[in-house]
Amino acid sequence: MNMKAVLFYKPGLIKYEETNIPEIKAGEVLIKIETALTCGTDVKTYKRGHPLLIKTVPSGFGHEFAGIVFQAGKDVKDFKVGDRVVAANSAPCQNCYYCKIGEHNLCENLDLLNGAFADYIKIPELITRQNLLHIPEHLSFEEAAFTEPLANVVLGIEKTDIKPGQTVGIVGLGPIGLMFVRLAKLKGARVIAAGRNPLKLKLAKEFGLADEVINLLEVSDPQKAFFDLTPEGKGLDVAVEAVGLPELWEKVIDLVRKGGTVNLFGGCKAGSAITLDTRRIHYDGIKIISPFHHTPRHFRESLRLISEGLVDVKKLITHKMHISEIENAIQLHNNGEAIKIALKP
Ligand SMILES: [Zn+2]
Ligand SMILES: [Zn+2]
Repeated sequence: MNMKAVLFYKPGLIKYEETNIPEIKAGEVLIKIETALTCGTDVKTYKRGHPLLIKTVPSGFGHEFAGIVFQAGKDVKDFKVGDRVVAANSAPCQNCYYCKIGEHNLCENLDLLNGAFADYIKIPELITRQNLLHIPEHLSFEEAAFTEPLANVVLGIEKTDIKPGQTVGIVGLGPIGLMFVRLAKLKGARVIAAGRNPLKLKLAKEFGLADEVINLLEVSDPQKAFFDLTPEGKGLDVAVEAVGLPELWEKVIDLVRKGGTVNLFGGCKAGSAITLDTRRIHYDGIKIISPFHHTPRHFRESLRLISEGLVDVKKLITHKMHISEIENAIQLHNNGEAIKIALKP
């Protein structure tokens, strides 16, 4: 049996074409995709490939999705044909050193699932068992598809340990930065969101409920713009980089007060290096963290936040289109005109 899917051949070359519907084995399920979301990672992958996501070509493409169980393999107990479900793009192996010490996001055998821009996707047994969830009745497929990207931010926020009343600055307002704004507000922080794109600055207020926004194109000294908004002008309690550029990592480190926390959340290209003054870490006592990915616990917490209406993810969908328009979708992201695009088969 055939289906249509977006396949990645090499950087800059993807095709929407006929391919086989994956066959499932015991413990696996086949999902009929209802909604897939575009993500910054897809755009990066399109431009330069991806060491973890693309291992052989042609490869499936896209990793944020929700749909309906179309086939359930032998031994699958919790899901039946017709169930509305959302899956994460990975699940920990539960066997490696990191899984055994409870650091599941650092699992050495994370096998990232790709291929959401298609009619169907096969969910491997590990994910079916740990990271496939039923979608509550009142949630749409579009909303549920946000569970994976938001789960990354749920883990990122937990590691940051924000206290109520603290002043938190977030630099970079793509979907991840915007979700960071929202979750920092839920922690009771006063949040300053900084970016350059008017659409994203508007969403920082309307979706993230940011207290202040800084348009980085309009200020000559971004550090001063942040400091002026902090108690006694000492600097932020917490600064978050949500872009993934080494030069920005260096700048964000200088936004926190003594004893502050810096969360360098945007992953940079492999081999990137930064320079920093050791005084900041030692005499100023700042803490630098850079958390990655999510775990089954964060994936569940993410779906709960969406389900209870605490994160109104619908506001982040700026476009809806057919999967065949994938190249147009990537272009819109590149131009900064899109936040999230909901693709339908
Ligand atoms: Zn993503
Ligand atoms: Zn593991």
